[in-house]
Amino acid sequence: MQETRSPAPALDPATFGRQLFEASPDCVKLLDAQGRIVAMNLNGLCAMELASFDAVRGSVWKTLWPTDSQAGIDAALEAARAGGVGRFRGFCPTACGTPKWWEVTITSIGEAGAPATGLLAVSRDVTEQLQAEAERERLLRQLSAANQRMEDVFRQAPAFMCVLNGPQHVFEMVNDRYLQLIGNRNPVGLSVLDALPEVDGQGFIELLDKVYQTGEPFEGTDLPVMLQRHQDAPLEQRFVDLVFLVLRDGEGRSTGVLVHGVDQTERKLAERKLYESRERFEKIVSQAATGVVQMDPEGRITLVNQKYCEMVGRTEAELLGASVLDVTAPDSLPVTLDAVQRLAAGENSVIVDKHYLRRDGTRLPATSSVNALRGPDGEFQGLVAIVVDTTDSKRAAEKLRASEERYRTLFESVDQGFCILEMIFDAQERPVDYRFLEMNPMFEQHTGLRNAVGRTAKELIPTLDSFWFETYGRVARSGEPVRFENEAPAMQRWFDVYATRLGGPGSRRVALLFSDITRRKESEATLRKLASDLAEADRRKTEFLATLAHELRNPLAPIRSGLGVMRLKGDSPAVVARVREMMERQVGHMVHLIDDLLDIARISGGKLELKKERADLKDVLANAVETSLPLIEAGRHALTVDLPDGPVPADIDVTRIAQVVANLLNNAAKYTPPGGRIGLSLRAEDREASIAVSDNGIGIPQEALASVFEMFSQVGQHIDRAQGGLGIGLSLVRRLVEMHGGAVAAASNGADTGSTFTVRLPLAATAHDAGALMLATASTVGSAADGTRILVVDDNVDAAVTLSMILEASGYTTEVAHGGREAVGRARDFRPRVAFLDIGMPGMDGYETARAMRAVPGLEDTTLVALTGWGAESDRRKSTEAGFDHHLTKPVQLSVVQDLLAKLAA
Ligand code: ADP
Repeated sequence: MQETRSPAPALDPATFGRQLFEASPDCVKLLDAQGRIVAMNLNGLCAMELASFDAVRGSVWKTLWPTDSQAGIDAALEAARAGGVGRFRGFCPTACGTPKWWEVTITSIGEAGAPATGLLAVSRDVTEQLQAEAERERLLRQLSAANQRMEDVFRQAPAFMCVLNGPQHVFEMVNDRYLQLIGNRNPVGLSVLDALPEVDGQGFIELLDKVYQTGEPFEGTDLPVMLQRHQDAPLEQRFVDLVFLVLRDGEGRSTGVLVHGVDQTERKLAERKLYESRERFEKIVSQAATGVVQMDPEGRITLVNQKYCEMVGRTEAELLGASVLDVTAPDSLPVTLDAVQRLAAGENSVIVDKHYLRRDGTRLPATSSVNALRGPDGEFQGLVAIVVDTTDSKRAAEKLRASEERYRTLFESVDQGFCILEMIFDAQERPVDYRFLEMNPMFEQHTGLRNAVGRTAKELIPTLDSFWFETYGRVARSGEPVRFENEAPAMQRWFDVYATRLGGPGSRRVALLFSDITRRKESEATLRKLASDLAEADRRKTEFLATLAHELRNPLAPIRSGLGVMRLKGDSPAVVARVREMMERQVGHMVHLIDDLLDIARISGGKLELKKERADLKDVLANAVETSLPLIEAGRHALTVDLPDGPVPADIDVTRIAQVVANLLNNAAKYTPPGGRIGLSLRAEDREASIAVSDNGIGIPQEALASVFEMFSQVGQHIDRAQGGLGIGLSLVRRLVEMHGGAVAAASNGADTGSTFTVRLPLAATAHDAGALMLATASTVGSAADGTRILVVDDNVDAAVTLSMILEASGYTTEVAHGGREAVGRARDFRPRVAFLDIGMPGMDGYETARAMRAVPGLEDTTLVALTGWGAESDRRKSTEAGFDHHLTKPVQLSVVQDLLAKLAA
């Protein structure tokens, strides 16, 4: 249209200006020099939402702006007035209050170089533009925050991540996890192949290519990847869960790949370990030779092995879910429950000895080692028990116990000693001692050792000889048992020992079974001595018999020839007297021999009894001298007698001690060459009397001194010597002296130096009393015989007549009878004061005669004296019972009879 109007007439500047003014989309105002609004275009009125220009006409434009815009406006106005262009941006709501931002440009109107006539203010509404800018900035801020968040997520993600760019998969970004995975190599800027050359050939590059090209994501789990995580170290296997996601640009084109995943290596290894350990556990359990059972906290069985099934006699199916109490014997329920409770309460393991109950009702003894199963926080999750069948071990233990008991009983009841000892060796392995470990009750009795347990032999017996260590050391070393008998002088005992090693080679223990055989050894020694004594005695006896025959024949020969002489020259009193003297001597010798023999026999048979009384030893010695005098005189020896002044009283059998001294005097006479010297002395010393008989005869060799007192012992051979005896005299002497509590000893300096025999006898308690007694006895002897009637009864006529004659010669009145009956008859008339009765008479014996005599009235007080060869206590008792008052053994010595009669008279 403007084209059609263009040929219009001339251009009116005012009109043009007005049109320009109105055409502007902005709010255009004309201000006068004072800044008052003089015109505003219509668009301006619209923009300011003014209904008409009148509302603002003439208003100072500046005042229409809010206060905080004034400074900007002033500056802009100033600039415009100065001829420039003033600009400012400010906020000013419309007349209707619509908030609006304005961009204002002020220019001055007028001729250049002349003062401005007015101002042109163009305000452009920039509200929308400002709003758009603000919005853009807000969006930008949001984007950057989102980016930051993304980056944080990327960096801090628990998974590894990286961004690969382009078809070469160049690392653009990697997070820490990724760096850790690849061993902290920095790959940024490098392609995968350059950064991680070891992955070539493992299939990952191909996968990346595929994702990049197709845009389809890839996901994989538990992928093994070999990585060079440490320089110069072998490749390491890792397991990863992976996602490859394609990244695209705005147009949807692939720009790269996001790699994202989790390193599962630790979990995988743990799983593998767990698997292996479980596998191992299952294998062990299933093949175990012991029963294995697992239970939940309620005691229900959750696992059993084959062995357990066999032990309890049930199948696995039967057992799973069952209670362990179902297979427990009723009497083992308390221990089982107790064990479960203790484990549930916190104990870790418990050992239970119990019995299982099998399906067939039999019981199975077992030892169960039960352990608590606990969760990570220690909570009780159940039990697992290892069960061992103890049937065999119980049986074996029972057997062992029984056998041990048997042996213990044996060892404790045997009467031999038993002990176990342990050898002690020194540094050179020499056995030097041993220690007692154990012993039976008899040990002490056999050894005399108390509390020996734990102590060594040397501690107990310091002087024990090395034989014992060496012997037992050898047994311990070689293992070869030994049996021996040996003396332990340190213990003063003999032992019979069996020693054997306990245990195998290297064991130092030795068992001993032994007996104290000291007594046996002693009796063996005694026996040996007895046997040798017996042999000696036998030898002597044989010798004795030869001697005896010789000795008896010796006196018989002169007696026989004496009888011949008497027959021829019986009419010559001188010849007869000489022959009788010779015959009396020879008979005396024979009687002496036979007396000694009888005495020895009596002593040996225990039949000789002493008739002890208090007597003066001086008298006894005088008696003995009297007996021996004929022999001493025959040898033409000089006898010296040395007696003390006072009486020497002793409680002795007077006859026997006289016999002793006479024997010694006879020997002195016999064993001293004719014309020798013989001494007899008596000493009272303290409580002892010592009688010594010495001679200067043939003497006794030193070696024979000890044996001269033994029976049948003779020094050298005397058979050819007329003086020789039977070798029993000294034996008799010793025995008689010992029966008196005394002792006899022989002394000699050897052959031809003479001998001395000394007899020691205990003295009587009070010498004074004894003396008095002797005195009294002596005073009565003289008057005793007068008028006393004595009956002598003996079937041996000679014996009876001899005794009667002797008594008559001593002043007694006697009658003789030769039998019991005759004796009783005579006694009735004769009324004897004393009767001597022989016991061994034919017909009525002595006992009967005594009883018969006692029965005769008037004979009650007659003293009856038995004469017998038997002098044992039993014989005496018998005679006492028969009514005898005294008992004399034959042959009766005159002195004894005299003593007796003297006492009766007293
Ligand atoms: P025997 O009958 O032989 O005399 P004994 O027992 O009286 O027997 O004496 C034993 C032995 O002692 C005698 O054989 C004699 O060898 C010796 N003997 C005894 N007494 C003496 C003595 N006084 N002098 C020398 N030897 C004597």
